[in-house]
Amino acid sequence: MLEKNIEKKLVKAVKDKGGLCLKLNSLSMIGIPDRLILMNKGKIGFVELKQKGLKPRPIQIRRIKDLRKLGFKCFVIDDVERIGGVIDEICST
Ligand SMILES: [Mg+2]
Repeated sequence: MLEKNIEKKLVKAVKDKGGLCLKLNSLSMIGIPDRLILMNKGKIGFVELKQKGLKPRPIQIRRIKDLRKLGFKCFVIDDVERIGGVIDEICST
């Protein structure tokens, strides 16, 4: 499945759970994750979307590491099957 289609399903799934799934297009920093997910009670997580089987680019991996070091949850989704689990993980803790 194409990244664009996985992204559409993610946006809908987050919306269905009452959250926001913001597209990130930073002009000042390349490689940041595609989406910022904001859920009830201040839960947040970043998601990099990929076409099935594709891995993040090195700059994207570096951004994910940097965000995790700051304590943020970051996920890579290349399969619609993962969407529910990622949203649950963002909402937990
Ligand atoms: Mg992407």
